[in-house]
Amino acid sequence: MAGEPQTDCLFCKIAAGEVPADVLRETETTVAFRDINPQAPTHVLVIPKAHYRDAAALAAAEPALTADILREAGEVAAEEKVVGTGYRIVFNTGSGAGQTVFHAHAHVLGGRGLNWPPG
Ligand code: 5GP
Ligand code: ZN
Repeated sequence: MAGEPQTDCLFCKIAAGEVPADVLRETETTVAFRDINPQAPTHVLVIPKAHYRDAAALAAAEPALTADILREAGEVAAEEKVVGTGYRIVFNTGSGAGQTVFHAHAHVLGGRGLNWPPG
């Protein structure tokens, strides 16, 4: 069923507390934790607890949950004090765009200069 936990999914395991992570924030529907391989001083992942393969699948199935992710990304940016200098919310979608974990997640990147367009 859509959104059900997948036994072989790393981020489902993090959401369930079965794999440890440096968790900054948790809500009823989301978890925010630091990326294990940070690409910026602030590099936090915000995930839905429900499993969807990517942001588009999440948005198609659960618009309110998609909004939860974006709101939490903003809360993370505020807690990390990167709102003033600017930050980026990234959803890599598909392996060609660098997606390696197929459980929807927003990267929140900040604390350094961010080039545009991204590589
Ligand atoms: P993607 O490449 O799919 O857009 O992003 C996946 C992200 O998950 C990568 O930035 C990677 O560093 C991060 N990641 C992979 N495995 C783990 C893990 O076990 N713990 C944490 N905290 N991050 C992970
Ligand atoms: Zn999952």
